[in-house]
Amino acid sequence: MTRIPVPLTQFVVKMHSRCDLACDHCYVYEHADSSWRSRPKVIGDGILAKAAERIGEHAVAHRLSTVRVVLHGGEPLLAGPGRLRRAAEALRSALPPECALDLRIHTNGVLLSRAFCALFAELDVKVGISLDGDRAANDRHRRFADGRSSHPQVLRAVGLLNEPEYRHLFAGLLCTVDIENDPVAVYRALAELRPPAVDLLLPHATWEAPPKRLPARGEAPYADWLLTVHGLWEADGRPFAVRTFESVHRTLRGLSSLTESLGLEPSDLAVLETDGTFEQADSLKTAYDGAPVTGMNVFAHSLDDLARHPGIAARQSGLAGLSAACRACPVVRSCGGGLYAHRYRADTGFDNPSVYCGDLMTLINGIAGAGGSAPAAEPAAAPARGGEALLTAALAPAQLDELARGYGSAATVAALGNSQLALTRAMLAAAWDASGQGRAEAWELLSELDGAAAPAVDAVLAHPYARAWAARRLAGDLAVGLGPLAALAAAAAVRAGRGDAVAVPVRGGWLHLPTLGRVAVPDGEAVVTGRADGFEVRAADGSVRTALDQPLRRVRLAGGWTVALEDLDPLRDSHDHPVAERLPEAELLNWTGALREAWELLGRDLPGYAEGIRAGLGTVTPLRPGPAGRDVSSAARQAYGAVGIARPATAPTLALLLAHEFQHVKLGAVLDLHDLYDRADDRLYFAPWRPDPRPLEGLLQGTYAHLAVTEYWGTRTVAYDGLAGEAAERARAQFGLWRRYTAEAVERLAGSGALTGLGARFAEGMWESVEPWLAVPLPVAAERDAERARRERDERSRLRSVEA
Ligand code: SF4
Repeated sequence: MTRIPVPLTQFVVKMHSRCDLACDHCYVYEHADSSWRSRPKVIGDGILAKAAERIGEHAVAHRLSTVRVVLHGGEPLLAGPGRLRRAAEALRSALPPECALDLRIHTNGVLLSRAFCALFAELDVKVGISLDGDRAANDRHRRFADGRSSHPQVLRAVGLLNEPEYRHLFAGLLCTVDIENDPVAVYRALAELRPPAVDLLLPHATWEAPPKRLPARGEAPYADWLLTVHGLWEADGRPFAVRTFESVHRTLRGLSSLTESLGLEPSDLAVLETDGTFEQADSLKTAYDGAPVTGMNVFAHSLDDLARHPGIAARQSGLAGLSAACRACPVVRSCGGGLYAHRYRADTGFDNPSVYCGDLMTLINGIAGAGGSAPAAEPAAAPARGGEALLTAALAPAQLDELARGYGSAATVAALGNSQLALTRAMLAAAWDASGQGRAEAWELLSELDGAAAPAVDAVLAHPYARAWAARRLAGDLAVGLGPLAALAAAAAVRAGRGDAVAVPVRGGWLHLPTLGRVAVPDGEAVVTGRADGFEVRAADGSVRTALDQPLRRVRLAGGWTVALEDLDPLRDSHDHPVAERLPEAELLNWTGALREAWELLGRDLPGYAEGIRAGLGTVTPLRPGPAGRDVSSAARQAYGAVGIARPATAPTLALLLAHEFQHVKLGAVLDLHDLYDRADDRLYFAPWRPDPRPLEGLLQGTYAHLAVTEYWGTRTVAYDGLAGEAAERARAQFGLWRRYTAEAVERLAGSGALTGLGARFAEGMWESVEPWLAVPLPVAAERDAERARRERDERSRLRSVEA
């Protein structure tokens, strides 16, 4: 059967095949592949037009909401402004209206001028600059052919991008690591330039051409170098994004990686050369002459053809595509075997761990030990490891203030995630203690793996519904049994891949492995064994299964992160509404398109919220449709990182529901750490938008969620300023309504007399967020509509209160 290809969403287009620098670490000119010698210098307009057409048809076929295109080289500025303009215009006009173009250029900066910046501002092209650090570091490799330094030119280019009119174009700096450079000097030099992001790249190397090692620098010099930078970056409060570090932090918590060089996410990148041929990732040039060749070209082959190429498919097969050593590795979910090119050895091809294996393992364990997740190297203990300490030390005052205003950076949301992981451990331990079972196989295994393969256990326990079992048991629901705990241990054993076995009770014909999927087996007791190359399930009738029948499916979103569509976990029914059954393929496609579009809208309309959502939202659980088509969504206090939603009719509504529910997720985690109100207060309070009175926490939760709703409609109202039409009028009416409601609700909270000191400060933060929106002028008609709706709701509330 023909494989359904994973869509390609990232394209590197070689605009010019030569360079004005002669960097001695460049993979294009200085490594094994020499194909550049025979290629045209500049890409032709016909090739650009055809490439744009191919990308456009691919976007339509796969309902892509965004594609990223990087104009690359050689040095792409050598292609000249006219060719760059034609490339941008061809790409934009070929994409369907619902697909956004994330267009970037990666340059050495030498030729970057004010005229180029003006062009990129007009065409909305973001600019990434290669810079290896301070002058000494940069001069080590990045020089002109005659040996001159390129450092002054690069600083001038960065200076241009930091000017107010061009700052929005500055995508970040790309720094290739050299262990001879001082990591402190490199970090300080890069940080001084105020980049929005820095990519720290390991120099390309293979087992045939290993990376530089220095006798006095120990066993893992690249890890040591990166960990030094990581420490400085953390101490500075993570002043800019670093995908390498963020990817390790995310994968340690069971979330997706943000870079192809780490994690198990499928690669979705292709390269177009100046002669119209398609190639695999550029980094393969480092392996052997011709390694990236696909034999395909833009005129004869579609992007679906390219996505099916065995070389590209090999980078899309996750754990199964890795070497046996990697599959058995305790950090494989974070590492993913490193960059594909770095695994190459002449006799075994790419079936090897990365040539940076020791460095990657040290880096991941080092970040885990520094608080990126629960420490990986702690001795074996019960899964309550670290719970107390993390619970009491989770949020700094600045983080709490940031959350009070409704937002939450990636670092702050990660801190919430770590505290929730600790809470899950503590609750599992308490539920186990209460079970009175003493020693039992599943608990023993989970405890042992917690020391020996901590990332595997962390990834399973970070799953939103891992805590649901403990919560039900602690609430006295003993009918839930001990099976889900055995299933958690089995999933951890499969992830650890060390050969551990555990018995799991099977009911209803399905064995569920949380975070992975389910296997159809007869009822009874099945034994699950995690192996280096997968798993084995021996069913009660003696039959053996080695593959998931229904894997947990994930949707890849712009920016390289993924979210799971959880339609399998038996404990996902933790929300206020019934959950949907396993989604059929057509509905999966609908969800995929809707989530991609909604994520685009969140980035555009709620950028202050989007970063936190990306850092903490791991799961969307489809709910059954509401009555009469009513929108239905719900967060569950015991399911951190998940939101339940019935797929609404439109992507904007989905965006709004995601933002609204993730506010509940964040606030629930805050309330697990801090007392914001007097829990003995048993009065009921009316929220302005509800007819029924609720406990204070209900008012607080609703108000917090509506901060995001207010900002969503406010941003849209500002964008529609002066425009007529149904969408504009609806935005203004909704904005008028929700800013007033939210402001009233904050005042009601502040005046309740039931907030703690911290809670009063939290309410002040909410007020700071809503107050500026009250000053945005609205047409009289919109104000009138809002006032009428408010009076109607107040009247309903009054009548209910009288009846009560
Ligand atoms: S650390 Fe080494 S063995 Fe482990 S996944 Fe990475 S490359 Fe493979």
